[in-house]
Amino acid sequence: MKPSDRPDSTVAEIIACHECDTLNRVPELAPGKKAQCSCCGFVLSHNPRGGLDRPISLYLSALILLVLANIFPFLTLEIQGREEMTTIIGASLALYNAGMGELAVVVMITSILAPALLIISSLYVLLSVRYRLGFPAARSTLSWISQLKPWGMLDVFMLGVLVAFVKLGNMATMHIGISLYAFCGLILVSAAAASAFEPHLLWDKLGFPKGRRDAG
Ligand SMILES: [Zn+2]
Repeated sequence: MKPSDRPDSTVAEIIACHECDTLNRVPELAPGKKAQCSCCGFVLSHNPRGGLDRPISLYLSALILLVLANIFPFLTLEIQGREEMTTIIGASLALYNAGMGELAVVVMITSILAPALLIISSLYVLLSVRYRLGFPAARSTLSWISQLKPWGMLDVFMLGVLVAFVKLGNMATMHIGISLYAFCGLILVSAAAASAFEPHLLWDKLGFPKGRRDAG
């Protein structure tokens, strides 16, 4: 293993298990290795192969797909010769205009705003650490990312679209837009990016105090 592949930390650290609260001493991990809780087996930390370059490339891809998903038509409905085209933002506005303001806000937050903030915040921290750019508030942004994750519900939105497909299938002709393909890609790439994003590596690089983290 090359020294450059290693995280900056050179000593074992104590991590509290997120599942059972057991304190575990976790040594420096080689690339591709993971540390599990000695009591319940929960993965406390892992050092993914490819270091920070992998999550950076995945989040950049996700950002491009998110832009594509929002600027191109999502779906075109054809009913009795009349065509209705919509975008994701257009769907939220349609809900609002139909008197479902609360639902419109939820759709807007969970399918556009939260994923966009999550992608941009993650890139902000990753690029700051990877290229030693020293962006301000990188630590608080990293802390904020874990609170933002539950609000991203791209898959739930997709489930709703699939239900609409089934319900409207007999009533109208539907044409899938570029946005829908981009959205499907976004779900897959976002999942891969989240899996490659290892907060413990970033905490180490940003120099948080040792022994005061848990494995969330
Ligand atoms: Zn445990």
